[in-house]
Amino acid sequence: MSERANLLDFTLPRLTQWLAALGEKPFRARQVFRWIHQRGVDDFDAMTDLAKSLREKLGRTAEVRAPAVLSEHRSADGTVKWLFDVGIGNGIETVFIPEEDRGTLCVSSQVGCALACGFCSTGRQGFNRDLWEATRRGLRVTNVVMMGMGEPLNNFAPVVDAMSIMLDDHAYGLSRRRVTLSTSGVVPQIRKLKEALPVALAVSLHAPNDAIRSRIMPINDAYPIASLLAACRDYLEAAPRDFITFEYVMLEGVNDAPEHARELAKLLASLPSKVNLIPFNPFPDSGFERSSAERVRRFQKVLMDAGFVATVRKTRGDDIDAACGQLAGQVVNRMKARPIRLHSPSPRS
Ligand code: SAH
Ligand code: SF4
Repeated sequence: MSERANLLDFTLPRLTQWLAALGEKPFRARQVFRWIHQRGVDDFDAMTDLAKSLREKLGRTAEVRAPAVLSEHRSADGTVKWLFDVGIGNGIETVFIPEEDRGTLCVSSQVGCALACGFCSTGRQGFNRDLWEATRRGLRVTNVVMMGMGEPLNNFAPVVDAMSIMLDDHAYGLSRRRVTLSTSGVVPQIRKLKEALPVALAVSLHAPNDAIRSRIMPINDAYPIASLLAACRDYLEAAPRDFITFEYVMLEGVNDAPEHARELAKLLASLPSKVNLIPFNPFPDSGFERSSAERVRRFQKVLMDAGFVATVRKTRGDDIDAACGQLAGQVVNRMKARPIRLHSPSPRS
């Protein structure tokens, strides 16, 4: 293991502090930060506007080291999925979704996930420097969604640091509206995020009542719907958008009936919200099935008739297992040369 400081982990305030200890002024930190994040440079010798003595000092004590790319897959629809190496046998996945008017990077916040939602194949922790990698590869990232593997609010400090680098004008300069964090509903952490760094919020609701939600999402026992919606309402005071996005995965025969849509409309009636319906992406032994397009359309219509903005998420990259809920950090153990599934929660139906 290297003893050097990896500058990719540093927010600008942290880098400023770190360079101050070496006797350097704050504007040096901004210069180094821009070299790294805006120009994708990892070699201190190439940072030509720094004094030679500083370049040498950096060369001895620091490094810019992204995780190795274990694999790269390209979907027929242009979606790209990378598997990054984050340490012994662990991989995290990042997906780039190109669209006409934007490029969205879907970022994982943990290796797997401990929350074990029944319909999700992501099964536990780590963090990433994937925005840097994507930008260096010339991909135009205009939006970031923390919707990959893992529960971002359960990896709070690193996620907040990573998002603050995304937002920093000396790095990627994304606006808080263009960075969306998706959570399964860790209520106390939603309140913490409001204080620390309120970005656009998406909440995985997936059910119109506690009975159904607890059946498919164990976290609902700890933070039932009423407490979740109260936290959402409170979050809106600081949010960069004036609504919360509620994600709703459509599971055949579980939560996809018109009466569920009516119950959902009633539940969200007084909360500024948008609903994003997600067709379930199957994976082996999930125990769930995708709702038919017709059922999804009927559900959407009930919501729209009730005055909601309700969209259906397009499935992208499913031919390379890059669609929502299909990221499982599959790593090839080079010793045994066989794929390892990190964790697949057992179906809870
Ligand atoms: N842990 C966070 C963010 C990652 S999941 C969360 O749960 O919100 C991103 C979104 O994909 C969530 O809304 C999640 O419920 C959804 N998802 C998980 N598995 C899925 C699947 N198999 N098919 C479709 N969407 C899925
Ligand atoms: Fe974790 Fe989100 Fe998957 Fe649930 S849906 S297991 S919270 S990543």
